[in-house]
Amino acid sequence: MKDYICPKCRGHLSIDNEIIFLTKNNKGDSAIVLLSAELGDYSFRKNPKVDFQSGDHVNFICPICYENLNAEEYDDNLAKIIMIDDSGKESNIIFSKVLGEKCTYSIDNKGIEAFGKDKDTYLNKL
Ligand SMILES: [Zn+2]
Repeated sequence: MKDYICPKCRGHLSIDNEIIFLTKNNKGDSAIVLLSAELGDYSFRKNPKVDFQSGDHVNFICPICYENLNAEEYDDNLAKIIMIDDSGKESNIIFSKVLGEKCTYSIDNKGIEAFGKDKDTYLNKL
């Protein structure tokens, strides 16, 4: 089982196959979001009363240290967490904060692996 941790506090963000975030969109709606831990799977769970819309710019916040997970060193639309695989190897996982934009990047010392139908969008910024 892969583990996902916060790059700021190194707290554990995943339980089984879901990663837990505090989120807030650009209209001020906030919610707990459970994101699939499978790279390239964009399914997520939230309270059905939370009206996030496609195209919303969603801020992802660590539920442990409350730090913003922005990856502004690459682009204002991207967020970053750390994945630890079964062998203990760490990769940076970069994903889009724009709802409906499907791109995820796994970056380690060997290079970049890109996932999702929109993966070309930010490849030249990484
Ligand atoms: Zn944290």
